[in-house]
Amino acid sequence: MAGAVDYAAVETDEELLDWSRAYCREVRRTRGVDVRFDLVEWEVSHRAKRRAAALKRPKLPDTTVGEPCDWEALEGADGRPLPCTLSLTREAFDAFDRTEWAATLRHELVHVEQYQRDGTTDHGAAFRERAAQLDTEVHCPAFAEAKHVLTCGDCGELVARRYRDCKLVRERDRYRSGCCGAALERS
Ligand SMILES: [Zn+2]
Ligand SMILES: [Zn+2]
Repeated sequence: MAGAVDYAAVETDEELLDWSRAYCREVRRTRGVDVRFDLVEWEVSHRAKRRAAALKRPKLPDTTVGEPCDWEALEGADGRPLPCTLSLTREAFDAFDRTEWAATLRHELVHVEQYQRDGTTDHGAAFRERAAQLDTEVHCPAFAEAKHVLTCGDCGELVARRYRDCKLVRERDRYRSGCCGAALERS
């Protein structure tokens, strides 16, 4: 893995994007996914409740999966696919392990590939076939909401999300927040 950051060391949203971009480039190189990353924008979402990631794209009229879009004829496109945005959900990254996160990115790459070729994308037969080739899921990956959310008792800043009971949750009286050195609150 030629990532700029080690997966286990990812902390900031910027590192999450760096790792994910590097992984997607590797998938393109090793699995022959036909995507143009210069026409993809990336963002991290903190609001998505269930979707691990999503492709935001313009809704173009008269487009069908399986029929290449005539980008030349599309006003404002200059013969190239209009930009799309890959929105990655931070909470999903935190909830998933590396295998699940990588599969999520491959799922989104199928959407990008379809969109950049055909001007639209869905989860139909062509998607199923491509998802199988790329060894990923057909359904948009969902994630569970964190079971425990620990915040700083003084300032309310998020300290940790946990998806199962663990020492930090069970023995939270013994821990202090990094920001204020205050007791942790559970919500
Ligand atoms: Zn999907
Ligand atoms: Zn605090």
